[in-house]
Parts: sequence; C-alpha cells; structure tokens
Amino acid sequence: VKEPVRVLVTGAAGQIGYALVPMIARGVMLGADQPVILHMLDIPPAAEALNGVKMELVDAAFPLLKGVVATTDVVEACTGVNVAVMVGGFPRKEGMERKDVMSKNVSIYKSQASALEQHAAPNCKVLVVANPANTNALILKEFAPSIPAKNITCLTRLDHNRALGQISEKLNVQVSDVKNVIIWGNHSSSQYPDVNHATVMTPSGEKPVRELVKDDAWLNGEFITTVQQRGAAIIKARKLSSALSAASAACDHIRDWVLGTPEGTWVSMGVYSDGSYNAPAGVIYSFPVTCKNGEWTIVQGLAIDEFSRKKLDLTGQELTEEKELAYSCLS
Ligand code: NDP
Repeated sequence: VKEPVRVLVTGAAGQIGYALVPMIARGVMLGADQPVILHMLDIPPAAEALNGVKMELVDAAFPLLKGVVATTDVVEACTGVNVAVMVGGFPRKEGMERKDVMSKNVSIYKSQASALEQHAAPNCKVLVVANPANTNALILKEFAPSIPAKNITCLTRLDHNRALGQISEKLNVQVSDVKNVIIWGNHSSSQYPDVNHATVMTPSGEKPVRELVKDDAWLNGEFITTVQQRGAAIIKARKLSSALSAASAACDHIRDWVLGTPEGTWVSMGVYSDGSYNAPAGVIYSFPVTCKNGEWTIVQGLAIDEFSRKKLDLTGQELTEEKELAYSCLS
C-alpha cells in the first residue's frame, strides 16, 4: 500500500478549486492507486465556503482520500506537502490596471514562497495557475531560493490542450491521435501555439498536422487567435471563466511531470528558462518538455522558422517586461 501524497490547493474555495479537488481525490492527478491527503487553503472571507467544500469531500466518500486539511493558515496549509497547486489569486476586476493586479498577486506569491520553502516536504513540486501565472511562479522561485528552480512551474497545459482540441475539431479526428503541439512563452494572449512539429496518427501512420490541414492561412491565423483568446470566449459563453478545463489541465500537468510523458510525446510546461531557443533566460517561459523520473527536460533541436521566431521573441519580451513590473511592484 502506498503512503498518501499531500497535495496543497490554494484558493480552494474558488471556481477552479471546486473543480480540481474532486479530480485529485479520485486519482486523476496522481493515479488510481495513489492515496492522497488534500490541504486546502483560502483567505478568511472564504473560510465558510471552504468548509462547505470540505463537507462535500466527506460526503463524496472518495476511497483514495485519506484526509482533508481546510485552513486559512498558510503555515498549516503548506506543512509537509509534496505537491502544491497554487490557484489562489486576486482576480482582475473591471477598471483595474494591469499593474494593480500584478502588485496584489506578486506580493501574495512572495509571502507564500517563504511558507512553502520553510514548511513543504523536500522536493515539493509546485504548479502556479493563478495569473499572471508565469510571473507569479517566477516570484515564488525568487523568494524561495532553497526550493530547486526545476521544482517551480506554471500552467500552460490548458493552452496546449486547447490547441490539440482545435486541431482535432478541424480534422475531425480523435484528440488522442493528435500530439506534439507547443505553447511557447507566456500564459497570456502573447503565447504562441505552434503546430509545426505536431502530428496526427492516421490509419496510414503518423502525419504532420500541416500536411493534413492543408490550410496555412488557418494555421497561421485563426487557429492561433482562437487558442490565444479561448479563455475570453469561455467567459462570454459561460459568464464565468474556464474552470473544469483549467482543473483538468492542472491534473494533466502534474500527472505527466510525476509519472512521465509517453515515449515520443512532449507537453508544454512553463519552466525556469535556461535560454533554450534563444528565449530570455531567468523568466518562467513555456517550452516543449518530456518528463521522466519526476523531472522535466526541454526538448532540444526543433527547427524554428522565421514566422515562429518573431512570435517566440514577442512573448519572451512580454515576460521580461512583466518581470521588471513585478520587481517594481515589490520594491
Ligand atoms: P478561479 O478559481 O476562477 O481562478 C483562480 C486563478 O486562476 C485566477 O487568478 C485566474 O486568473 C487563474 N487562471 C489561470 N488560468 C486560468 C484559466 N484558464 N481559466 C480561469 N482562470 C485561470 O477564481 P476564483 O475567484 O473563483 O477563486 C480564487 C480563490 O482564490 C478564491 O477562493 C479566493 O478567496 C482565493 N484568493 C486567495 C488569495 C490568497 O491566497 N492570498 C488572495 C485572493 C483570493 P484570472 O483571474 O486572470 O482569470
């Protein structure tokens, strides 16, 4: 019998949290044979709602769920956790400047960095979901210097999955037959969804997406903007932001990181950049990665054409600017 893994979810009383915790408790994130103990953190105004979520977890009688900690105390929440999914954050309200949102969130991530550094289990894996996800993750990394940089990541898997979904719809093929799209850069509208290395499994073998779609105008235009703006389209339709797909993507991200990516398949993760593909070093940038033995590695040697180069640079530039803005908010 496996020892339970402790999984922290911050902002657990929020929309994404509400979709995410039952997935974790069912084994979607860590496997159907892996017991879990959920640590749920939220802020005092959400304490009652958080307790309601805890009651529902009890009522769901999940066999894998070996315990629930629901708290507004960040130290209690972080103590002993092996995986931390950081969903809590200040939402952008109407009329708020980008700098105001940034300022609120980076100070949250600065203080949570210290709590994680001091109280999480050694080798805790961290996934930041709350926006601005890349820059929140960077601040967390900078203010938790004893957590290895490779353990701090941000979510671009939702964008990756959205790209797979769009290709699957366009070609009328199963989404499970599409692979190796790439999301480069920032989890913002400057991200670059790249299909140049993506393939589809067909009855006559693996074929490049470009060869099958035969519509470069769509691939270089509408496909990219649809993926970039999908979040806004969901808000318009649902009057609420995407929660089930964000929660599902968070599970995919951690599962592949911990249990490994299938042979020949890569996924997109926001990771601490070493300057691969001439992306700026020292920001959290989304790259194609493979995972093995609990560690990610950036896929190397992919050809980048001129069209892509510009887009990689543009999103990189935005991340460099966000980093500066974040530091100016903290000083
Ligand atoms: P959600 O659960 O919908 O979203 C949480 C965060 O995830 C937001 O920052 C959101 O950014 C971000 N996000 C990233 N990717 C996506 C995506 N694809 N779709 C939607 N959201 C995405 O927000 P709620 O307001 O429902 O819940 C937030 C919780 O956080 C609340 O329970 C609140 O009490 C808590 N909170 C915690 C704080 C803390 O820990 N100190 C501070 C403030 C709030 P975006 O807003 O840009 O969509």
